[in-house]
Amino acid sequence: MEFRRAQLERLAGALERHEAGLLAALQADLGKSPFQGYASEFGLVQLEIRHALRHLRRWVAPQRRRTPWFVAPARGWVQSEPLGVALILGPWNYPVQLLVSPLVSAIVAGNCVVLKPSELAPRTAEAITELIRDCFDEQLVTVVNGGADVAEALLRERFDKIFFTGSTRVGRLVMAAAAKHLTPVTLELGGKCPAIVCGDAPVELAARRIAWGKFMNAGQTCVAPDFVLAQRGVRDAFVTALKKSLLEFYGQDASRSADYGRIVNDRHFARLVEYLRDGNVVHGGAHEAKNLFIAPTVLTDVSLESPVMQEEIFGPVLPVLEFDKLDDALAMLRDRPTPLALYLFTRDREAERRVLADARSGGACVNEVVSHMIGAGLPFGGLGESGMGAYHGRAGFEAFSHQRAVLRRETWLDLPFRYPPQKLSLGGLKRAMRFLLGN
Ligand code: NAD
Repeated sequence: MEFRRAQLERLAGALERHEAGLLAALQADLGKSPFQGYASEFGLVQLEIRHALRHLRRWVAPQRRRTPWFVAPARGWVQSEPLGVALILGPWNYPVQLLVSPLVSAIVAGNCVVLKPSELAPRTAEAITELIRDCFDEQLVTVVNGGADVAEALLRERFDKIFFTGSTRVGRLVMAAAAKHLTPVTLELGGKCPAIVCGDAPVELAARRIAWGKFMNAGQTCVAPDFVLAQRGVRDAFVTALKKSLLEFYGQDASRSADYGRIVNDRHFARLVEYLRDGNVVHGGAHEAKNLFIAPTVLTDVSLESPVMQEEIFGPVLPVLEFDKLDDALAMLRDRPTPLALYLFTRDREAERRVLADARSGGACVNEVVSHMIGAGLPFGGLGESGMGAYHGRAGFEAFSHQRAVLRRETWLDLPFRYPPQKLSLGGLKRAMRFLLGN
């Protein structure tokens, strides 16, 4: 435990020493301002480390469990053990947080780690490689850089745990590769996260919160609201409030805002620009290929069959659709793959209960977006097509641990009745069980 604690403290120290370099790399790769870089990447990793240092002793401690009566006197417990060597594959959108937070969990649980940063954020990958080299013995944590070919080569090796954050498409490949060695996986994937705005919701507040979560990092956030379902009657007011918030946040020309990001590369830029044709652009729409800039854009009159409603958007384009009754919105979600997150804006507890009971998702927020994944208090993960397993805080410790069940029996007593030849009849056994179970 002391070794793990020391590694976490070294990591916290190294992050501070490398902060300037990493923030500059994030700016170069994704146009992330130092403020954004700190708030959405560094700050979260530091929180994760501090939380782990505070709780490590309790997580590591064996937990007592009951044992069956016929082995009495005996003691049972669960002890958490490291899985071994973990492979962590990261995406490009939060290239520090989504690689280093799982690393914290892996270290807390006592594993050795191979990290594979995304090749699409190359400056950050370089800066992370330096950070890790400066901080850890390479027998303990090491970085392997490269693209899909390198990831595929790594996946052919036998690891004891694979932790993957990225697209659903590649998630399937990772799981297939893991099956060969029966390696356990955690898959943190994507999806289309819906935001439902009910007729009774405080519309301006909902618009402001949704605009914040959607357009940070230029919409390239796995838990960003992908589309909005607004109830008829408030849809127009919601769209008006959304435009107002976007003007307040990023001004008339978002390309001049220090708080607004850029699209990661030409391929994603071209893909996103295509979506602008899938609806009526009621806000934004401006774009500039040479700077990989797409303005915060709101679409209305979008068909459910159009590409923008079929694929994960993962960029600054927000379709706002309309529904009549809550049941209609729920029916529409039921037909779709399970998203990573679900957002609901309402003050009505009955509507909240119905939505949480009826619409599945990895995580959910009521009257908020994104924040369920901030901090180490709540487990973070997907379900169905948005992934499996979870991390952050205790859930992260468990994701990289084996829960080993141990039973220790005393030697001074050995009740004879379980051994053959059996003298007790079946009826006698049932009566004895009922007596011992108290009914
Ligand atoms: P991606 O799946 O393209 O890449 C992720 C990682 O997989 C990279 O390290 C990449 O090198 C590697 N990779 C690429 N092709 C591979 C292959 N054929 N075999 C093995 N590995 C391969 O994802 P991305 O574009 O970096 O990230 C965007 C996606 O990630 C979005 O779908 C987003 O929703 C999702 N995401 C999910 C979370 C989450 O926490 N659930 C967080 C961020 C992003």
